[in-house]
Amino acid sequence: MWNDKRYHSLDYELKKIFGEKAIKLSIDGNFTCPNRDGKVGLRGCIFCSERGSGDFTIRGKTITDQVEKQKSLMSNKWKSSTYIAYFQNYTSTYDTVDNLRKKFNEALSCEDIKGIAIATRPDCISREVAVLLEELNKKTFLWVELGLQTIHDKTADFIRRGFTLDRFNRAVDILNNKNIKTVVHLIMGLPGESREDMLDSVRYVSGLNIWGVKIHMLHILKNTDLAVFYEKNPFKILSREEYVDLVCDALELLKKDIVIHRLTGDGKKSDLIEPKWTLHKLKVLSDIDKTLKIRESFQGKNFPL
Ligand code: SF4
Repeated sequence: MWNDKRYHSLDYELKKIFGEKAIKLSIDGNFTCPNRDGKVGLRGCIFCSERGSGDFTIRGKTITDQVEKQKSLMSNKWKSSTYIAYFQNYTSTYDTVDNLRKKFNEALSCEDIKGIAIATRPDCISREVAVLLEELNKKTFLWVELGLQTIHDKTADFIRRGFTLDRFNRAVDILNNKNIKTVVHLIMGLPGESREDMLDSVRYVSGLNIWGVKIHMLHILKNTDLAVFYEKNPFKILSREEYVDLVCDALELLKKDIVIHRLTGDGKKSDLIEPKWTLHKLKVLSDIDKTLKIRESFQGKNFPL
């Protein structure tokens, strides 16, 4: 249905739009996060790494320098002239609108940058920011990523997410009203959540008007509060087999038109405490493909819910 995949992958979607492979370049816009600077919280989400969940970017360099460096790294791997600047670290709409405009426009002015992706928090989509995003959306291919992780309040409190489901819904509405594509992040394997709890989060986002979904396995990284918690209270970690099975269930629940941006997370090998199996991304992805095939299944099989 989606070339060789049984789910609607980002790679498929971007090839359809741009006529060739589009490569995402991870950019650090030197932002911070309200959940770290005291506005919402001081210690951040319990799992957040020192680099604000963007461990493969180069902090401190100009946007142009980062784009050029990442392009030259990626060009060893892929031949393409379509790049998306992905503002990944911390909260990439947490700045003045003037500064944001400057940073996003700098990325857009780089050669072969055909779009922008912005990772942020729902409580950082103000009306003013939405106007800027609308402006960008008119001149380039744009999507905005929101880290929801779970719909369950108890887990949201535990991970110190710092915003409510209602705040998330309002951000999705604001973006929809501006015709901006929204991508939602969900984390599987959060402590205290049952398999049904996780699938309830998937069912919920599948019912929203969103463009894409990213599914991650929870990573326990060194120097995070989650690592300290895990040492004192070792909780159950999903095995690779359990995760693959769960992701296949999740894909069956997701509407066919939702673009799947990711089904595995990227943890830095040197920082990853658990689960080690997530380092073998290709194995996880190929097991997902195989399991869907064995089930004779595909994305959206069980949607409508
Ligand atoms: S919102 Fe993102 S950057 Fe901020 S603390 Fe949570 S994971 Fe880290």
